[in-house]
Formats: sequence, C-alpha cells, structure tokens
Amino acid sequence: MHKWTGEKEVGTQFADIIIDISHEQLDKTFQYRIPDSLIHKVEVGMCVNVPFGKGNTLRKGYVISIGAECKFDPEKTKPIHSLADTDAAVEDDSILLARILQKKYGCTMIQALKTVLPAKHTVKQLQHRTILRKMNREELLSVLGEAARKKQVAKVRLLTELKEQERIPYEWVTGKLNVSGATIASLEKAGVIQIETINSLRNPVKSMEQKHAGKVLSPDQQRIVDTIIGNMEQGISRTYLIHGITGSGKTEVYMEVIQKVVLEGKQVIVLIPEIALTYQTLLRFYQRFGDRVSVMNSTLSSGEKYDQCERAKQGEIDVIIGPRSALFTPFPHLGLIVVDEEHEGSYKSESTPKYHARDVAIELAALHGASVILGSATPSLEAYHKAQRGEYQLFTLKERLTGGQLPTVHTVDLRQELRDGNRSIFSRKLQELLTDRLSKGEQCILFLNRRGYAGFISCRACGHVCKCPHCDVSLSEHKNGRLICHYCGYSEPKPKVCPECGSKYISGFRAGTQQIEEKLKEMFPGVRTLRMDADTTKTKDSYEAILSAFANEEADVLIGTQMIVKGHDFPKVTLVGVLAADLSLSANDYRAGERTFQLLTQAVGRAGRSKLPGEAVIQTYQPEHYAVSFAAAQDYEGFYEEEILYREMLEYPPASHMLAVQIFAGIQQDGKMLADTLAEVAKEDKQRVIGPVAATISKINDIFRFVFYVKSADYDTLIKTKEKIEEKRKMMQPVRGQVQFDFDPMITM
Ligand code: ADP
Ligand code: ZN
Ligand code: ZN
Repeated sequence: MHKWTGEKEVGTQFADIIIDISHEQLDKTFQYRIPDSLIHKVEVGMCVNVPFGKGNTLRKGYVISIGAECKFDPEKTKPIHSLADTDAAVEDDSILLARILQKKYGCTMIQALKTVLPAKHTVKQLQHRTILRKMNREELLSVLGEAARKKQVAKVRLLTELKEQERIPYEWVTGKLNVSGATIASLEKAGVIQIETINSLRNPVKSMEQKHAGKVLSPDQQRIVDTIIGNMEQGISRTYLIHGITGSGKTEVYMEVIQKVVLEGKQVIVLIPEIALTYQTLLRFYQRFGDRVSVMNSTLSSGEKYDQCERAKQGEIDVIIGPRSALFTPFPHLGLIVVDEEHEGSYKSESTPKYHARDVAIELAALHGASVILGSATPSLEAYHKAQRGEYQLFTLKERLTGGQLPTVHTVDLRQELRDGNRSIFSRKLQELLTDRLSKGEQCILFLNRRGYAGFISCRACGHVCKCPHCDVSLSEHKNGRLICHYCGYSEPKPKVCPECGSKYISGFRAGTQQIEEKLKEMFPGVRTLRMDADTTKTKDSYEAILSAFANEEADVLIGTQMIVKGHDFPKVTLVGVLAADLSLSANDYRAGERTFQLLTQAVGRAGRSKLPGEAVIQTYQPEHYAVSFAAAQDYEGFYEEEILYREMLEYPPASHMLAVQIFAGIQQDGKMLADTLAEVAKEDKQRVIGPVAATISKINDIFRFVFYVKSADYDTLIKTKEKIEEKRKMMQPVRGQVQFDFDPMITM
C-alpha cells in the first residue's frame, strides 16, 4: 500500500484506534479521521463508534493516541462516527499502564485495557443494609450465653462480633460470618439488633466509625516509618521490603505510613491476597481510617466495583484495600502502594496478561512518583534478591509483638519409621502428640501440602526422588509407565526398584485428605474432624464456614490442604502436623523448594499463636533437604542463601529470566508444528531454549497444550524474542492455534 507518512493536512486530526474485538489479528491500531463535529470531544482513552471492514459496520474502539499526521491515504481514511455512549473518558494513566502491561507481558492492547479498565455496568439503585446492636454489652452477653448453651453456632458468631462492634455491614454477616438471613431476622424480632437500610450508598464500609489512633510503635517499627517518611519528604520514592514474621507488626507500620500519605492529600492502594481479606484485617483499617477506606473484593458486584472506581476518581476515598485487581483503582494522586504477603502466588494473574501485581505495582508507582512497601514473613526470592542488591531497601522485624512463642518443631524421618515397622501415615511422634492434645481438649491441624503435586516417584526406604538429569526438577509419572520432565521432555522408564538403595518400596504418594480423615477416626474413635480441600470448598461460603466452625471449636482436628495455612487465627491450636513435606518439595518445577519453605513456615507458625505453647511435626522422606531443615529452624536467610545458589547454577529466576511460550491447538499436529517452529525462532535468536514439550496436562477440553521455555539474563531480550515469535506466528496464519506468553512463570504448565 502507498504510504503518505509525514504528509500533513492542516487542521485535521487523526486518531489511532483499537477495535474491541478479542482476536490476535486485530492487535494493531487503525487510523481514523476525527470529523469537525467531534474535534474537541474525542480524547485519548475514549470509547468511540467507528465504521469497520468492507461493510462499514459500526464497531466500538478505544482511542489510543491522537495526532495531526496521517499514516495512510487521507482520502481513504474513514471518519469516526460518534462517541460511544456507555463510556466516559478514562484517564491517560490507564492507557499508559495498559501499554506497560502489553509490552512487559506480551498481550494485546485490548487485553491490557480490559485488565486495567473497570468493567462498565449500568448503575442500578442499591440498597445498603447495616446491622445495628440494640442492646448494651451486658444484655448482649446474656443473649450470647444463652445461644452458646443452645449450641446456636451461627448466632454465637454474630453476637460475638457485635460484642466488639456496634455496627456491621449486612454483607459481612451473611458473607464472611456465614449467618443466614433467617437467623438475622429472628435476632431482629427478639429486639437484639436492628437492620438499617439506606438507598444507593455504595460504600461497603461506610457504616464504620473512625475510632482508633495508632499504637505506640516499637523502636524497630519507628525506624522503618521514619526512614520511609523521611525519604518521602525529600521527594525520594522507592521500593521497600519489610521482612517480618506474622505478628511482628508490619501492618501497624503500613498504617502509620498510610496515615502520613493521606494527610498529604494522596491516595493509597493496599494489596492483600483475597484469602487473607478477613473481617479482622479490614476492621483495623476501618477503625483507623473510617469511611475514607474502601474494599474491593470478589464478593462485590461489578456495579459496586465500578462505583468504587468512580469514587476513587472523584477523591471520595483515600485508601483502597483488595486483591490483585485493586491495583487498577484510578486514583488521581497515588502516593503509596502496599503489597502485603508479596510472596503469594495469587498476585500473579493466570489469564493473559499474565502480570505480577508486585511488578506492576512498582511500574505504576513510578508513573505517579509513588512509593511501594512490600511485606512478607517469607519474601519471594525475587524480592529478597533485589533487596540484597540494593534495588529495594530491606527492613527486618524479628519479634512477635503479641507474645506467643514460636513453636517447637520436630522433624520426623519417615524412612526411619518404615525401618522401625511403622507403615501408618502418622509417625509415632505425631500419634503421641495427637493423643496428648485430644486428651487436653486442645485443637490440632493436619496439613497435606498437595500443591504442585504431579505424580512424582520416590523411595519410601531411602527418600530418593527421581529427577531430570538436565533440569533438576522431579520427573512425573505418566500412564504409559514412563517418567517425564515437564521442562525439557527428557523421559525414562519407571524403575522397578530404587536406583539408590534397591528397595522395592518405590512409588508415588497417594494419600488424600479423605483417607487421612478416615485413618484418624480409626485411630481416635469419636474425634471430631473438619476437612478442607477442593472438594469441601466448592463455594466461597463453605470455606469461611469451615474456618468459623473450627474457630468456634466445633471440631478437634482440621485436616486440609494449603488453604488452611492462611486466614483466621486459631488460639486453641497447639499442634500442627505436616504429613508429607515431600509432596510440594517434589513438585515438577523450580519453585518447589521455595513454595515448600513458605508452606512449612506458615503451617508451623499456626501452632502456638496465643499463650498456649505450640509444637509442630514435619514428616518427611528428605529431612536433610534445606527447604525442610531451614523451615524447621525458622531460618529464612539460611534458606535464601541455599536457594539462590540453586537458581544461579541452573539459571532460573530471579538469577535469570524465563519466558514460557504456551501453545494451545485443537489439532495435535498443529500444536506440535507451532511449538517446534516458534521454538526455532527463539533458537535463531541465539537464546537458550528448553523444550518444546507437551504440557503436564497435555490436553484439556480437547485442546492440546505445548510449552517451551526461553531463558535469558536480560528481560528486554526476552521481550524482543517474544515479538519475533509473534511476527512468526502471524506469518503462519493458516495453522490454527493460540499462543500465550508467561514471563517468569509461577506455575509449570
Ligand atoms: P503483622 O502484620 O506483621 O502480622 P501486625 O501489625 O498485625 O503484624 O501486628 C501483630 C499484632 O501486634 C497486632 O495485634 C497488633 O495490633 C499488635 N501490634 C503491632 N504493633 C504494636 C505496637 N507497637 N505495640 C503494641 N501492639 C502492637
Ligand atoms: Zn531407595
Ligand atoms: Zn529436564
């Protein structure tokens, strides 16, 4: 086509527009002329109607940029038809942020915009209900006592909250506290509470009153606050990492800095993993910041989410708390982003763009000149690595401020148990301690860390795990009887006897939570158990219901997967048993050690949160593995030193960067062909390429999945390689299949 680059038409303006159709081929801008009637109305970020294609059907599109230069034949450039009525203009910031996502994570601008922009929804009148306490504390306590005697557990949950708080949002009571409408109605009838209804008040936390000032900070906390605020006052904004165990006072530090930022007239985003968004956590923020705080979580309707964004833009709120997506709250003067539990896997998006909220937070802060505070008890290798190199400023908080000792940890060697003739899934130490706790009426948690579990093979006699000789990750067992590496595709026959010690006890670990529950009931008849796993938590409410039931001591033992290590505090728990640390240790990806360390540390930390001293038992076939031994010793630095050596040696992130190129195709040959051809592109680029291989789950819903990995020390090089792969993909058009990119992946596909 003949190009008219540089040709200017005086007075005429042109807009680059992307059409809102989710298709890779449309990931480019189309230029339209802005007609005179719209010349001062069209702005960057607006949604407009444009004639599209041969039939000139009207389509919606986003204005990405506006300029005076026509890139094509001005005669043939079509005019914008009209403004799309559903949308207001979005901030330029959102477009900038979308561009960052697009570049950094290899998605289309449309996908990036969809991530960044709030979903638009027709605003319907909403009723907002609040539960008010109608009695004084003494009267309430007597009602509470009666409900407890009658074992009306839901009533007890609500009344217990009302003891502390005179007003509670209705949604909290039905949602997080899992109390039914009928129960609430009966309490209203009895005159214990009153339900207040206000129309169209969309702030879910409006009813909370501001009451509390901050605590007097410890010298360690104060030093952190002074440093951060001192920097802010000098106009220095940077990223800070606070490493401190649960209960060491990190949240108190965040709140102190937040207060300062808010007083300066700026706004704050606080990211918390969805699972940790408990009433107790939020209450602290409400109590400190009153109705200038708002919450974004998945229980809000899209209408409510949209309203939150509107309120943020209009300056009605100062602080938003929420999971990953709260990052895209459009504040006019963002001053600070807090990322609590920054190591959490849920900060990484699993759909395109596969962004990491921590990294995007840092980019977003840079756009605004804002600061970032990361916090964790077990920092990600990424964050700690950057802190070690001075890119982030590191602070450490070492003491628990609430009292409560760190638990005593016993590591049990399951190989020795087998040698001594104990074939049960409970070691003798765990049995002994369970017996003791049950007799005392204290609570226990049994933890099965199945995360990342993908059918690895190990020896029950010596603990040997079959690993890939090239990638040093566990091999997974396949139905065809072979063991396979899911990074590079290496495979070998499944051994009949252990290659290390010759034992015939070489197999996968198959016990599930259900089986553990059965065995426990056999061993301790009459024990009251609760089980929490993917089966028992199909709905969000059931998750909360199980946790509240356990908190209310409706069971002696809670058995569950990694879900149980977060969320509520259980003061009566004095024993935590980890049944097989090896399960997550032998996951088939390079983060297995890190995840195991995090899970074990969290699990162990669940015992002994209050005055009662706690103990933990870690059962394992690999007691000498550093992830196990450092977790048992609660030594993060020790773990980091070992783990970073492994990452450096094998060039895994954060020592290097890794791009996963994922291919999805309806026809297996197409997928394989795409994978092979695209991997060649990366190899031509002189990059280190691993694979391609069929994914761990090689087919889902009849879609075949392939993956290969590209490693490079330089992230920008990977972006260039990604762009070349996209180019190549476009040239291979008749071949059907989808390509997705995952930079520094958290999960192995
Ligand atoms: P983290 O966020 O590290 O888990 P928190 O900030 O939640 O720690 O603090 C743990 C507990 O200690 C909370 O109950 C909090 O109210 C209390 N706390 C924090 N800082 C102080 C302080 N300076 N003085 C007294 N109590 C504190
Ligand atoms: Zn062996
Ligand atoms: Zn391999």
